[in-house]
Amino acid sequence: MSIADRFQPGRPVLSFEVFPPKRDGDVESLYRAFGELAPLRPDYISVTYGAGGTNVGLHYEINARLVKMGITPLAHFTCVGQGKDAIRAQLDKLWEAGVRNILALRGDPPKGTGKFVPHPQGFAHAGELVAFIKANYKFCVGAACYPETHPEAKSPADDLAFLAAKVKAGADFLVTQMFFGNDAYFSFVKRCRDAGIATPVQPGVMPVQSPKFFERDWGVGVPPELRKAVESAADHDEAASRGLEFAKSQCRDLLGRGAPGLHLYIMNKVRPARGILEAIGRKS
Ligand SMILES: Cc1cc2nc3c(=O)[nH]c(=O)nc-3n(C[C@H](O)[C@H](O)[C@H](O)COP(=O)(O)OP(=O)(O)OC[C@H]3O[C@@H](n4cnc5c(N)ncnc54)[C@H](O)[C@@H]3O)c2cc1C
Repeated sequence: MSIADRFQPGRPVLSFEVFPPKRDGDVESLYRAFGELAPLRPDYISVTYGAGGTNVGLHYEINARLVKMGITPLAHFTCVGQGKDAIRAQLDKLWEAGVRNILALRGDPPKGTGKFVPHPQGFAHAGELVAFIKANYKFCVGAACYPETHPEAKSPADDLAFLAAKVKAGADFLVTQMFFGNDAYFSFVKRCRDAGIATPVQPGVMPVQSPKFFERDWGVGVPPELRKAVESAADHDEAASRGLEFAKSQCRDLLGRGAPGLHLYIMNKVRPARGILEAIGRKS
């Protein structure tokens, strides 16, 4: 089923994001987690695509497993390092496995290179991938957006104009980068509407699970109180609980102010998914 069709007034779309584990054996624990996540009835589970196209086989396998379990997968897909033929071969396979929703992304430049260089037979921007998918398939297509602006963008206005073009190319719904201040999300949505972007903008929420999270610059604002709470925790468990508490109040506020759903970056863990769904009163 098309994820875009699930966005209906008064019914938040709830989804979880997972990644293909790096070690082969860990995929079994991800499948066990799916067994625990299924009763929470997510609208979909999204599966990230390895940076630089690594782990393509496992990405396919996980998406196919979700279809078999009766859970709608959203398969992330990037343009990094591949031309149209390779892209087509993978999309054909995903379609045959019953996947009907793709999150079309450009992808990050390979580590250490700093600059995205398109494949000679590939695409330079996510908008081109969106257009390619829409021209050749019946997938419902989602795309990424950045309430605090994509780090490579020259300006917020530039970024928004390119986002509008990406939607015009066929993106059916948008999922945001994580953010920790809800005002950033709501003012971004207003700017989208003013720019003529009418698609749902599903907010992405990251329940921070460890102080390690703050070691990387994600290009998003981090409230000092969140950082302090997580970094001053006595152990990993307490750090995760504090990150989760922050995310719960963020989610309650988002839905209370009319956000059309929540996309939870759960990092393959069941606890944040369960905790947040309880906090918003969604029964399994
Ligand atoms: C919800 C979400 C899920 C993600 N999942 C993954 C994943 O699974 N795997 C992964 O590797 N990465 C993932 N990413 C990260 C993403 O790949 C990076 O943020 C990447 O740098 C940009 O991808 P994009 O699709 O937003 O690119 P684009 O929409 O192409 O934008 C990239 C940059 O180019 C600019 N731009 C866009 N169009 C044009 C144009 N026509 N001309 C000039 N400039 C333009 C934009 O302003 C922006 O600065 C995800 C990000 C989000 C928010």
